[in-house]
Formats: sequence, C-alpha cells, structure tokens
Amino acid sequence: MKTKLGLLYGGKSAEHKVSLRTALAVNKALDHTKFEIYPIYITEKGEWIKGGQLNGPVEKIEDLQFSQTASSESAFSSKLFQTEDGKTFDVIFPLLHGPNGEDGTVQGLLEILNLPYVGNGVLASSAGMDKVVMKNIFAHAGLDQVQYVSFIKSEWNEKPESTYDQVEKELGYPCFVKPANLGSSVGISKCVNRAELEKAFQEAFQFDRKVIVEEGVTAREVEIAVLGNDDPKCSVVGEIVPKEDFYDYKAKYEDGDTALIIPAKISEEEYKTLSEMALKAFKALDCSGLVRADFFLTKDGRAMINEVNTMPGFTPVSMFPLLWKHTEVEYPQLIETLVQLGIERHKEKQ
Ligand code: ATP
Ligand code: MG
Ligand code: MG
Ligand code: MG
Repeated sequence: MKTKLGLLYGGKSAEHKVSLRTALAVNKALDHTKFEIYPIYITEKGEWIKGGQLNGPVEKIEDLQFSQTASSESAFSSKLFQTEDGKTFDVIFPLLHGPNGEDGTVQGLLEILNLPYVGNGVLASSAGMDKVVMKNIFAHAGLDQVQYVSFIKSEWNEKPESTYDQVEKELGYPCFVKPANLGSSVGISKCVNRAELEKAFQEAFQFDRKVIVEEGVTAREVEIAVLGNDDPKCSVVGEIVPKEDFYDYKAKYEDGDTALIIPAKISEEEYKTLSEMALKAFKALDCSGLVRADFFLTKDGRAMINEVNTMPGFTPVSMFPLLWKHTEVEYPQLIETLVQLGIERHKEKQ
C-alpha cells in the first residue's frame, strides 16, 4: 500500500514563493510507486486549497506555473487531510517557510488533529522562528553568539531616538537589523550609520512587530545540517560565499552568484566544534527531524551560532539537501528519511 502523503506548501508568509519551488522539487523527487501525493496549497492570503497540480520548472521562482484547481475545500477543514473516499492521510509534509508554517502554528494544528507530520514540533518550530527567543535559549545553553538587542514596535514608535541610541551604545556599527520572525533574509539590512539604522528599522518593522539588532561580524559563513530525532546526526559543513555584501534575498534566490562550497575547507577541530554546537542547539530547542544550523567562523577559529532553521530551504540546490548529498544521502532518500522520522516521532507519542 502506498503512503498517503499530504504536501502542504505556499503559505501566508513572505517566503511563500520559496515554498512553491520546494514543493515542486519534492513532488518530483518522491517515488510515486511508494507515495500517493496529495498537494494542499495555502495561498498568500491564507486560504487552503486542496488538489492543485504540482508541475512546472523549478529553476526560477518567477517561472513557476501553478494550476490551482480549487476543490470544494477552499477554507480550512479537517477533510483537507482525507482522500475523496474519506481515508485520512498517513503523514503530512509541511513544506512551509517563515511565519504561519515554520513557526509552530501549522504543527499545532496537526497535533490537535493527531496527524503524523514531517519535521519539528510546536516548541522547536516557534522558538526557532523567533530569533530573540532562540538566541536567549542558545545563551542559556552556553552557545557562543553575537551581541544582540531587541525592540517591539510600540517602544520604537514611542521613542525612536532612544532605540537608536541604545543600539549605538550597546552594539555600534556595523550592525544587522532583522524582523525577529522571518527567513530568507527578507527585511534584513546591514547598517553602518544612524541614517541607515533608521531606514532599517522602518523596513524590518514592516514585517514584524519585533526586531532584533545584532552586532555585525566579519567572518566566514558556514552551515551544517542535522537529521534525526533522539539521536541526530550531522552532515559535512558547507560554506557560503556571497558576491554581495551579505547573503541577502537576492543572493539566495535570484542571482545564483553565491558560491556554496561543500565541504567547506575547515580543520578537523573546527568540524568538531561546529557539529557539537549544532547538536547542542538541536537539543536546546528540542528539535526533531531536521535543522540547518548557521554559523559565523572568524579567522581565529571562533565559532558563533547565528541561527537554526527548522524548515530550511529544501530544493535540490539548497544547502540542506546538498550537505546531505555530500554526506551520501541523496535527495529522494533524504525525503523518505524525513517522512519516516515524522512517522516514528508520532508513534512514540501515542
Ligand atoms: P535564512 O533563514 O534564509 O537562513 P534569515 O532571514 O533567518 O535567513 P540570517 O541567516 O539571520 O537571516 O541572516 C541572513 C544573512 O545576513 C546571513 O546569512 C549573513 O550573510 C548576514 N548576517 C546576518 N546576521 C549577521 C551578523 N550578525 N553579522 C554579519 N552578517 C550577518
Ligand atoms: Mg533563518
Ligand atoms: Mg529560514
Ligand atoms: Mg540564515
């Protein structure tokens, strides 16, 4: 019997398009003799549409073509997770990035419906989505990271100058301003002076009611992929060498100019440090299934964790699958492993 797999994609998030690309790639890679795929598309407005077709080129987000034939289910209903003849799906793959998908909300819904799903649970997803909460937990776990401060929109609205003063006093320049809950570098700016800082706050607050400001570091950017539940394993390390000033949205999805070096040229000792830190971060957030841990590695060998992504970019040319490919786990096998881990985690809870 084939595994009935519900593929949730799109999503009410600034990373909607990234998810579309991922869904096409996953659908293409899945072994259709083992899996019956049921696509469920979530529009940018948050409507749930069952039964669209997942076809099209995956190279460029702009080229994506979708035929979304809305079924009778275009609002949320638990029937969304059932076949026409009323059989409940065996497992759900939430291929969603950013808020309303990677942040525990969809995971909570699936928990309530008692459905097995791929990837991180409610707590890890929500704590991993909020960069401030995540960094506070990392600090508690003793993980080295950059200095940071955070503000909510109302305090910035009330006294903008004092928020800028605090950034300058505690961090100085360069600094990075980010929406607390997002990904794909959306809304992130690097600032080297007060004028840029003001602009950056305005930009970041368009995406979130909370921003984080971080001390900017000059360092190599390296990433490591973690896979597993209670006994997670680390991949090799990959390095990102952006052509632009930093690894922004354009560099991630539009230019293709960014070099991904896998495996990164690092020493054995550095590998040991990074993999231990990645596992520590995985444990600290109580992760399951997968994460991609992002680090800064300075010239003198200091490793600082930047963040983890609980549902990292997942096209065949994204860092997470590429890291596993170099660790001898091919894309289709990686997807099957994740599905299996999701099913196992669900069984353990019963
Ligand atoms: P994603 O989830 O796609 O990995 P994100 O939106 O969560 O991205 P970050 O990874 O935090 O964002 O930052 C995006 C990029 O900005 C980093 O890859 C790096 O190039 C740069 N950057 C972020 N923070 C800093 C910092 N403190 N110092 C130097 N560079 C930084
Ligand atoms: Mg991120
Ligand atoms: Mg992300
Ligand atoms: Mg990142």
